[in-house]
Amino acid sequence: MTENIEIGTAIAKPGTIVEGKIIVEKLAGGENISMPVTIINGSKPGPCFWINGGIHGDEPEGILTCSLLKKEINPLNLTGSIVMIPAMNVPAMEAAQRGNPLDTFSYDMNRIYPGREDGYLSERIAYVHKEWMVKFADMEISIHSGGSHSYLAEAMFAAKDEKTQELARAMGEDWKVCLYSNITSKSPMAVMSEIGKPALTVELGGRSSTAPGAFLNVGKKLLKACVNILKHYKMIDGDPHYPSVRYKGYQKALLAPKSGVFLPNPDVKFLNMMKKNDHIATIIDYQGSELCKLLAPEDGMFFGLRALPNVTIGDWCCFYAIIEGEW
Ligand SMILES: [Zn+2]
Repeated sequence: MTENIEIGTAIAKPGTIVEGKIIVEKLAGGENISMPVTIINGSKPGPCFWINGGIHGDEPEGILTCSLLKKEINPLNLTGSIVMIPAMNVPAMEAAQRGNPLDTFSYDMNRIYPGREDGYLSERIAYVHKEWMVKFADMEISIHSGGSHSYLAEAMFAAKDEKTQELARAMGEDWKVCLYSNITSKSPMAVMSEIGKPALTVELGGRSSTAPGAFLNVGKKLLKACVNILKHYKMIDGDPHYPSVRYKGYQKALLAPKSGVFLPNPDVKFLNMMKKNDHIATIIDYQGSELCKLLAPEDGMFFGLRALPNVTIGDWCCFYAIIEGEW
């Protein structure tokens, strides 16, 4: 028997889409801090696919993906359920900042899971979200991007176990890079991994990919991945597709060695194999003199690059994947 699903203020009967809120705390002005929740409850019993977006407030790609998925899915044709939290960190999203401006102590909500019931503000938000997620979710993806500073191509972080790698592969043909992550990352994915449930941190997009067609394309690629996951787990009808090859390895974030203006090498491409010491970018000063070159630290590929050319020493410049082989 399929049952009602109740999360926060949303109660979804079988075969319905229902929207509501998870209310966390009250602010001084009397308004609640809450996060939106959409439940698509299928007509037949099955697994719960949980989608998180907007844990970082400068990354609205999860909102776009959830809006597209809601239109795509008919709950009468769905086995199991989909729970979408398009924007987990609402005050950060409203401010278009990575973290909640009201909280400087636990600013990065993706580094504080499982949260704390009596902790800093963002820890409390994380705690309430985590309680609902672990109660219902059988598998989870968190949608991220390069945000206001970078563009990130299709890449994901995941644990190495078989169930998690099945979910990673179910993302489909566009997703060839899956980097190691573990339960020490203090993300929603880490909480899920710790209780033996598959979960991914997924990266695509960023502020240099928000022109009219470009932003929608990011959303469509993420939608395609979500739909493929639903097909793989037989939650909707259809034949899933899979990547021809999947690379494994780990991330190395390359930080700016100098302050200046960041000029990517026009001859290099995202997600293409490079050799150690290949030229990724140059940093120049305001009068055009070269200050330094950014080189590949090992054989591998870059999946993210700085979108804002203005750069200060120590800023994120390049998200590099050191590739160790294939899954
Ligand atoms: Zn993020």
